Amino acid sequence: MNIILFGAPGSGKGTQAKLISKEFGIPQISTGDILREHISRGTELGEVAKTYIDEGKLVPDEIVIALVKERLSLPDCKKGYILDGFPRTIEQAEKLVKFADIDVVVHIDVSINEVERRALTRRICPNCGKIYSIADKYIEDCESCGAKLIQRDDDKLEVVRKRIETYLSQSEPLIEFYKKKKILSTVFSAETPEETYKAVREIVLPFAKK
Ligand SMILES: [Zn+2]
Repeated sequence: MNIILFGAPGSGKGTQAKLISKEFGIPQISTGDILREHISRGTELGEVAKTYIDEGKLVPDEIVIALVKERLSLPDCKKGYILDGFPRTIEQAEKLVKFADIDVVVHIDVSINEVERRALTRRICPNCGKIYSIADKYIEDCESCGAKLIQRDDDKLEVVRKRIETYLSQSEPLIEFYKKKKILSTVFSAETPEETYKAVREIVLPFAKK
């Protein structure tokens, strides 16, 4: 089962990717992880990518695509894989077609208001890393270790809005792209990841390989 998980930042697609990975024993692949892995191993592509990252620039598409292509050829992808956060643009999707046979694109649909609401009510414990939502119950201190909860910079409204803008201009056109290819399935992001997963599971199950 070769799957793409697609959705706005904050849609919870990473969590869904983890749940699929766990149940079906196929790897969750993100470009961030591949880049970190190549840089830590000091590969040639990793070294080139690092020069861009060190300068605060985006790693060029050719490099990202070469890394994804190599990753998908590894033995642990034989039974399938989940692409999480790739492709991000039409150009990347067009390149991907040349070396990957995608069974299904699962689009986790969530409203922009909901993404903002979730980010603004998210708090994290700087000590143990536990994540809380203060949407229903307001708390200031971590229930596990007692440390004062903080809001991550990534969850601040202006940062969230900027990420959403980039998503809308660069990535949202992919919905039409995959609709045309008739491999898009949409799931609405539910209140909890477990609830969302019930719907995601129904979609991916037919593609599971024994
Ligand atoms: Zn804590």
